[in-house]
Amino acid sequence: MTEQFEPMPGDWTRALAIVAHPDDLEYGAAAAISRWTGEGREVSYLLVTRGEAGIDTLPPGQAAPLRESEQRTGAAVVGVTAVDFLDHRDGVIEYGPALRRDLTREIRRRRPELLITLNHHDTWDGRSSWNTPDHRAVGRAVLDAAADAGNRWIFSELAAEGFTPWNGVRWVAVNGSPHPTHAVDVSDHLERAVRSLLAHRTYIEALTDRNPEEYCRTLIGQATSEASARFGGRPAVSFELFPR
Ligand SMILES: [Zn+2]
Repeated sequence: MTEQFEPMPGDWTRALAIVAHPDDLEYGAAAAISRWTGEGREVSYLLVTRGEAGIDTLPPGQAAPLRESEQRTGAAVVGVTAVDFLDHRDGVIEYGPALRRDLTREIRRRRPELLITLNHHDTWDGRSSWNTPDHRAVGRAVLDAAADAGNRWIFSELAAEGFTPWNGVRWVAVNGSPHPTHAVDVSDHLERAVRSLLAHRTYIEALTDRNPEEYCRTLIGQATSEASARFGGRPAVSFELFPR
């Protein structure tokens, strides 16, 4: 018998979601984020790139501002108004101290109890569906920066900028993991999740010939029904949870 998911912890007030690209959160996590902001929790977004290499038919210089604007719209739909972007290059994000330092600075600035990110594993399914290098780099750096943020001797130059250590991150929740452990019931948040994904209209129109709304509805339906089998039959978003 397949093991049931544990419910996500609820005793927190501030979360920071850190992902590589505009739309990384909207393919699943946004439904859970919609629920959390609806409960009065504070969630902010940090995008490591502007997703400028994501649209084949659009040069990066034009794609970047457009995708940034679509991301802000998609975030607002699920109650997120704080959306910031780092200037790493889409497609070639390098895992390493420079990325960890940038994330540590933002974690110390916002002081979240929960960090949310996207699948850091090599594959999506634990077998053959290869993940992208940007997702792997950012996901791993988020898991590392959760600890870096609390250590005064790592990136001590940040303290001189006013970013004193924050050792309050209690969990890192990884969405899209092939090894999920926890889930959130998103029964009442499917519509907002669809509209949040639909905000990435330019990207979706370049990606598929299908009707954008139908495409979003199908994807969100699939994403939330896969987890429901292990969460009491309710539409759910799953995470691999790393407590600290
Ligand atoms: Zn992505």
